[in-house]
Amino acid sequence: MKDVWLIKSRKRRIEQGHPWVFRNEIEKITGDPATGDVVQVKNHQGHFLAQGFYHEASQIAVRVVTYSEKEKVDDRFLREKMKQAWQYRKRVLRHTASCRAIYGEADGLPGLVVDKYEQVAVVQILSAAMDKRKEAIVKAIVDVLGVKAVYERSDAPVRQLEGLELSSGCLYGECPSSVTIKENGLQLEVNLVEGQKTGHFFDQRENRAAIAPFVRFSTEEKPRPDQHYDEQKAHLAAESTRVGATVLDCFSHTGAFAMHALMYGAAHVTLVDSSEVALSQAKINAELNGYLDRASFEVVNAFDYLRQAEQEKQQFDVVILDPPAFAKHKKAVDQALKGYKEINLRGLKLVKDGGFLVTASCSSPVTRQEWLEVIHDAAMDAHKLLRMIEYRSAGKDHPQLLGMPENDYLKFAIFEVKSRG
Ligand code: SAH
Repeated sequence: MKDVWLIKSRKRRIEQGHPWVFRNEIEKITGDPATGDVVQVKNHQGHFLAQGFYHEASQIAVRVVTYSEKEKVDDRFLREKMKQAWQYRKRVLRHTASCRAIYGEADGLPGLVVDKYEQVAVVQILSAAMDKRKEAIVKAIVDVLGVKAVYERSDAPVRQLEGLELSSGCLYGECPSSVTIKENGLQLEVNLVEGQKTGHFFDQRENRAAIAPFVRFSTEEKPRPDQHYDEQKAHLAAESTRVGATVLDCFSHTGAFAMHALMYGAAHVTLVDSSEVALSQAKINAELNGYLDRASFEVVNAFDYLRQAEQEKQQFDVVILDPPAFAKHKKAVDQALKGYKEINLRGLKLVKDGGFLVTASCSSPVTRQEWLEVIHDAAMDAHKLLRMIEYRSAGKDHPQLLGMPENDYLKFAIFEVKSRG
């Protein structure tokens, strides 16, 4: 038996559903487990708590996979977990052709992330235990998801903490370099090889749909009573008469938010991103959907753009801010909060009176409360009064384990912005 015994004076994290045992919580290890082996986690009295994958060197010593003592943790077990993850998505998502199919810890598969792009699965293997089982995992992905190809994008730096090299390439079938997916009715081309992370950020899909009511009118338009909510009509009206909101999409990446704004009736969207690759992909997406004439693209540092736009007294009906994670560790939180304050302050100043700020943070160590406080501070400095209209987090294909605060990484809010006069 390979057992990991925990110290008495630890937090009852495992009991509360957090799936990691940290090295400093271990009293003793018996049975000499190697990295990737299945171990039993026991409390200081020897009571069984969970089974998980062991790592000899990582700070995360055990990643829990089951709370059952009897279950045999083998390839069949992993396949079964994948099946459950897939069945869950089929039950709750409207469309499963393209979505996050497996979301690591939250699906009981620690260190394994799989995004499905139509017939291609893109896999990120982030733990040594999963890496050891790669062959079986790829087989199971093909079987369970019914995909024709599997592409690996294990090029996330966190792999190094598990002693793993970065690795990417085609693992099964014939892997195309890009795939066109459908999201909320839009067509988006995703570059699987060169795109950031696995190519597309599925976590914001439902949040992108949430911007619809805020982009179809400009702040000057007086909605008539008969202009009830109809996305298709809004889009057509915007195309023909240039009604609808003017939108700034900062940190636009490949334009997913921007394309939604245009579909929902925005008159014009300015996309800002420092990555030329991301913006050329955004252009392709604008073309695919027939929106090229309502979009402009700026390859520039968003901080500089916001500063310049403020100096030039530019104004938009809606400003969207979806930056990369400013903090990846607790130590970086203070600096990150300064960053969030700066972009939200500058972003707010660019919103017309009565317009909307759509803002997000994907920094997992920054709490909801800290983030909202910073936005509130920014509003006070900008002499604005904010009304929060939406608060959301990641979509249904990114469920959150309640006992794992790291899962609550995505914060998304929409505010109405009024001047204090
Ligand atoms: N809104 C996007 C995701 C944004 S990811 C979507 O819905 O898909 C963050 C983006 O910010 C990346 O595309 C990255 O290239 C860009 N980025 C990072 N730092 C930046 C900076 N200082 N200025 C502008 N863009 C930046």
